[in-house]
Amino acid sequence: MVATPVKPAFMTLPSDQEASGRTLGEAEIALVTEAIRSGTLTATKGRMVKGLEKRFAEMIGAKYAFACNSGSGAIHCAVAAINPKPGDEFITTSITDMGGLTPILYQGGIPVFADVDPNTWNVTAETIERCITDRTKAIIVTHIFGNPCEMTEIMALADRHGIPVIEDCAQAYFATHKGQNVGTIGKIGCFSLQQGKHITTGEGGLVVTDDEEMAHRLYLFINKGFDYGKPQQPDHFFIALNGRMSELVGAVALGQLDKLQGVVDSRQVAADKLTAKLAGIPGLHTPEPSASNTHVYWKYALRVDKNIIRDGAVGLAKMLKEEKGIFSAPRYIQKPAFQCEIFEKQITFGDSNWPFNLATPEAVDYTPSKFPGTFSGLEWVLVLPWNERYTDAHIDYIAEAVKEAVARLS
Ligand SMILES: *Cc1c(COP(=O)(O)O)cnc(C)c1O
Repeated sequence: MVATPVKPAFMTLPSDQEASGRTLGEAEIALVTEAIRSGTLTATKGRMVKGLEKRFAEMIGAKYAFACNSGSGAIHCAVAAINPKPGDEFITTSITDMGGLTPILYQGGIPVFADVDPNTWNVTAETIERCITDRTKAIIVTHIFGNPCEMTEIMALADRHGIPVIEDCAQAYFATHKGQNVGTIGKIGCFSLQQGKHITTGEGGLVVTDDEEMAHRLYLFINKGFDYGKPQQPDHFFIALNGRMSELVGAVALGQLDKLQGVVDSRQVAADKLTAKLAGIPGLHTPEPSASNTHVYWKYALRVDKNIIRDGAVGLAKMLKEEKGIFSAPRYIQKPAFQCEIFEKQITFGDSNWPFNLATPEAVDYTPSKFPGTFSGLEWVLVLPWNERYTDAHIDYIAEAVKEAVARLS
């Protein structure tokens, strides 16, 4: 009799795509119930979204916060608040979510890609400076994986040139740079409540600022340009859609806010444990947030040296999946943002190419040699899924799996 090979029992890791890896519960249910019972489901009249905005502003340390319907929407609000004219340039990053980029095009702006530091995958003052021109309207930084950009240097550069900075904090709730929450360092901070972020309502976004004029524009942009606060002179002041969050979503978000600090703490504790367990493995580099930063671990990103570990991040990911059932993401976004069709073929409105047709040749020059950090960063990165529900047993399982795989691939 031929024995059928026994499939090893995989440990199932909690997943942020369903209850096992999320922190949703009775508090959110009670708040949603309250919203429904009130019969008011629009934020223009209800109390949930208003409460959410007030609480989030307090928690993050900003004067104003506004809720909207997605993280992409939050970025869109920020870009619109800056009020670019078509052809104005927004310096941004080649490693981010597409939702951080397409809003620039919708507002007629030209995304100009800065290279990243291959060790942190973040833009730096140096990579940004190379992109500054007399058309630069704003800089958008993404604190990738929850590790802040070096904001002191970036703000010094931006201030020297008088350019506003938008922070994309979709992955970086409560991450700090020199003790200050990201999102409050630049002019506008943007957050996402999508299913896979630190806290979630499925879809949703938040945008914060200290600047009164920006705050007013953000508010109007979410509200079809209509100022509900000024009933004495009702009008639609500029082009804007309805980007509002519903009271049902606001109710869930309010419940989630109470849990945010705990979620961040839990992710940090688990990450520190894994980092300790993976210390000193040749060819494997664990996250190293700088002394100025606290990292909030949206994901746990490793750097894998393919000169030491066979087939690098791709080889390691394959073995983790096949041998241990651990699904990680080598290359994170597969390719730099500028290699996606939307940028390569400039697909926007009909066959107009607008607003790319207004760009200078340099702004849309995506020659790979301009982006050494981006290409090596993506080649080295292995992104482990992460969430606040990892226990010591999960961390042990991941650590053993990685050690075993590395040993076999070295
Ligand atoms: C998730 C994400 C977004 C977009 O947020 P959505 O809520 O999915 O629209 C933008 N930027 C970054 C860095 C993100 O991680």
